[in-house]
Amino acid sequence: MKAWSVMDYGAECGYIVFAETRGKARAAAMGCAGLDCSEWNDVEVRRIPKLDGKRNAPCVLDWEKDGRIYYEAGWYPIDGAPSCDCCGLFEYDEFPESRVTETDDGFMCAACIAHEAREAE
Ligand SMILES: [Zn+2]
Repeated sequence: MKAWSVMDYGAECGYIVFAETRGKARAAAMGCAGLDCSEWNDVEVRRIPKLDGKRNAPCVLDWEKDGRIYYEAGWYPIDGAPSCDCCGLFEYDEFPESRVTETDDGFMCAACIAHEAREAE
């Protein structure tokens, strides 16, 4: 199944949808809470090729249940979630590896802190 992001134009959140076509992705997401798509044209649908094939059937992914896929797509769960100054990873409560810590060099995730430590040796 092809992966799509569906969101209101200008909004910072939306849904990841698996569907065969752009139109089907849009139709599936428009029934979901949190999407203010009173007008068909107000909704932006974009392909997310790197997530293709993660689901075999059409579906709209749930933020709570399918959080990991949102995380892999680089979406973050709340407004103003901190992100790594180094690689841009957003902190996501459910995933300890995404935890961002304030260091002398700015906010950094565990992987980047470890990388820096190795560089410094
Ligand atoms: Zn990082």
